[in-house]
Amino acid sequence: MSNDSKKFIKGTSHNFTIMIDEEYCKGCKICVDVCPKDTLEMVPMGDRWQGSVVIVRDIETCVGCLLCELQCPDFAIEIDVPKKVKKAAATS
Ligand code: SF4
Ligand code: SF4
Repeated sequence: MSNDSKKFIKGTSHNFTIMIDEEYCKGCKICVDVCPKDTLEMVPMGDRWQGSVVIVRDIETCVGCLLCELQCPDFAIEIDVPKKVKKAAATS
């Protein structure tokens, strides 16, 4: 996934960055349904297979579980977890 895509939607909190490639997202809503924190939401996008595309509703609610990234069938969403957070999780 390219960070310089014109269609790239991004949300960043203290801990996590959510990157969504709008060109890859087909609007299937799987990521919204698997997210345990209601971080993501769908917005209308007429040219999509399902007529919508995902956006970040509230980045501060993201807990970095990666479920959305793992379940997306089109590799359209990616979560960046900083090394310091990974290290803290590994030692806790
Ligand atoms: S799971 Fe992937 S393709 Fe489906 S709505 Fe989410 S980001 Fe888009
Ligand atoms: S990483 Fe987890 S909490 Fe964050 S948006 Fe994805 S599914 Fe939701």
